[in-house]
Amino acid sequence: MVELYQELQNFGDVKTNVSFKKMTTFAVGEMAQCLITVTDTEKLIGLLNYLKNNGVNFFILGGGSNLLMPDRDIEGVTVRIQTKKVEMADDTTIMSDAGVGFGTLINLSLAHSLEGLEWGVGVPGTVGGAVRGNAGAMGRNIATCLEKVQVWRDGEVIELQNSECGFDYRESRFKFNGDIVLRAWFKLKPGDKKEIMLRATTYMKQRSGRYPHTPSAGSFFKNIQISKWPGKVEELPELFRERGMIPVGWVMEQLDLKGLTIGGAKVSDEHGNFVINFNNATQEDVLKIVEVMKERAYNKFKLEIEPEVEIVQ
Ligand SMILES: Cc1cc2nc3c(=O)[nH]c(=O)nc-3n(C[C@H](O)[C@H](O)[C@H](O)COP(=O)(O)OP(=O)(O)OC[C@H]3O[C@@H](n4cnc5c(N)ncnc54)[C@H](O)[C@@H]3O)c2cc1C
Repeated sequence: MVELYQELQNFGDVKTNVSFKKMTTFAVGEMAQCLITVTDTEKLIGLLNYLKNNGVNFFILGGGSNLLMPDRDIEGVTVRIQTKKVEMADDTTIMSDAGVGFGTLINLSLAHSLEGLEWGVGVPGTVGGAVRGNAGAMGRNIATCLEKVQVWRDGEVIELQNSECGFDYRESRFKFNGDIVLRAWFKLKPGDKKEIMLRATTYMKQRSGRYPHTPSAGSFFKNIQISKWPGKVEELPELFRERGMIPVGWVMEQLDLKGLTIGGAKVSDEHGNFVINFNNATQEDVLKIVEVMKERAYNKFKLEIEPEVEIVQ
């Protein structure tokens, strides 16, 4: 352990026993027994190779905004990616390291009057986390603006074009194949600064009125594609039919589940798809609530809802 600790110092800042309550927006979970924070991509590659070659288990942490951590310590090494480089690759393309805050990337696009990323204002987390989960809002997502990525795959660094990333609604192949996103390139369009800023401000206002401010990991479940709705589509609100999506928040309202409380966790009164940690919730509390949500959605509508939040067992 001492030897590992010393080796790790070559790649970043190393700490022991750091609480996930402080490193995730849900504020649930126990300790990272060994946490290394890496700020440079070449060092990150070196670290991943070192961990692989020495058979050390590792867990990747970005901004911690889409995670429900377990009620136990995480053994091995937790790699917190805070790589920092973000720059114009050409007039309309931004290159960003995975550890850059998603908001920082968006700010650079706004500063250069480029459109294509403004839908993401207010989405927390890092660029790497957003690429892995194909983050999205306002009908747009990462797949609509990403040109290519560089990933670490089992000791190799490779580049993949957008079409090779397996993007789907809140999905990418990186969720399943263990690739670590290192860098991403976003292809944007020159636009009118005032109009882009107006859209960004409008989206921000819509978000701040809609989302609770108590700790959470955002929407707990993926919204439902309208083709999967077992009932009569023509009876659904027009907006859902236009968007082709049914919000799980609305489903939870139909089930009267807003306000349901178990231990320190609760279905938010403001947004039916947000499970909030209002009082030192454990993962167990959250999972119990989530089970009720799933069961009731199935019993009443025959809907199988899938978590969007990454549940670490
Ligand atoms: C208040 C609130 C609002 C939100 N609103 C939205 C929204 O509008 N739209 C939306 O899509 N999401 C939303 N989210 C969810 C979350 O912000 C996004 O999913 C975000 O992109 C997660 O990024 P992260 O860096 O925080 O990832 P983390 O939570 O740190 O990690 C999530 C998963 O990605 C993995 N991961 C992280 N970085 C990498 C990497 N570089 N390579 C490979 N794997 C990696 C982790 O191992 C983990 O499995 C919201 C969350 C909150 C709390």
